[in-house]
Amino acid sequence: MKVFKFVLSVFIISFTFVSCGQNNSNKPQQKAMEKPDSTQWNKLTEAEKYVIESKGTERAFTGAYVDNHEQGVYKCKRCNAPLFNSDAKFDSGSGWPAFDDMIEGAVQEIPDADGFRTEIVCANCKGHLGHVFKGEGFTSKNTRHCVNSISLQFEPMDSVSEKINVEHLDTAIFASGCFWGTEYFFENAEGVISTQVGYIGGHKDNPTYKEVCTGKTGHAEAVRVVYDTTKTDYKTLCKLFFETHDPTQINRQGPDIGHQYRTGVFYLNDSQKEVAEELKSLLEQKGLKVATEITKATTFWEGEDYHEHYYSNKGGTPYCHGYTKRFDD
Ligand SMILES: [Zn+2]
Repeated sequence: MKVFKFVLSVFIISFTFVSCGQNNSNKPQQKAMEKPDSTQWNKLTEAEKYVIESKGTERAFTGAYVDNHEQGVYKCKRCNAPLFNSDAKFDSGSGWPAFDDMIEGAVQEIPDADGFRTEIVCANCKGHLGHVFKGEGFTSKNTRHCVNSISLQFEPMDSVSEKINVEHLDTAIFASGCFWGTEYFFENAEGVISTQVGYIGGHKDNPTYKEVCTGKTGHAEAVRVVYDTTKTDYKTLCKLFFETHDPTQINRQGPDIGHQYRTGVFYLNDSQKEVAEELKSLLEQKGLKVATEITKATTFWEGEDYHEHYYSNKGGTPYCHGYTKRFDD
């Protein structure tokens, strides 16, 4: 059973982009892949719409889960994505449910226009959840996700669906040049629960984007993909990897040049290794000189928050990645 957690790093508000993404000239246009299917979302009541779609706030102490202490999982009311585990819940006294941690990659932070608060939304369907506050000292994690009860649906631990959800999660890590482009295709792929950009394969602990951009850390820009094995599988994702970048380019991808933009599969177990090698050799049989390195995953260092979901937040499509069918089935 894998339950992923991590403490949110401090959101960096002021930043400058120094590499890919800045160069928007001569980017090839390609058809965007399917967005999450909103026809599958739950029908919302007017009160739910007010909070989830119009970013309203329910009145304090009125929500169903303020005093809920049962063990289980809190899911998105609209799309059913698991968001918070009950062991992250604590009493803040504020009148809204509070969580000091989230299920990895499930919640996305967006600074409010007023610059004072940070909104949190479901990373999958972008439904409004509430706000996140840091440094208040409530718990050791120093983070309070203040969430409207009405944005959530609680599933007790013993429910069958929760067992299926947790047991059927698996992880894959791919590097294919600028991680914004890599993430774009995986976050829109069927069966993918969450994606996280980061750095892997180098020798520097806690690398920053600036350090990785020098090409001297040994790290590759990469994306960690958490997926539901009842809806997709590693082979499907690995094919998507080979088909959404040019695996014949060495230490570059399109306009991005450097060791950090190399093509690589970072496998987490032997069966992933076998699948990746099989697909690589299939492409080689077709005459492609595949440069993709297939190596055992080392520590995945999460990238700075401002890189997350770059294209879905900013709009547009990647200039450095596109879809090319390379496999027969
Ligand atoms: Zn959702």
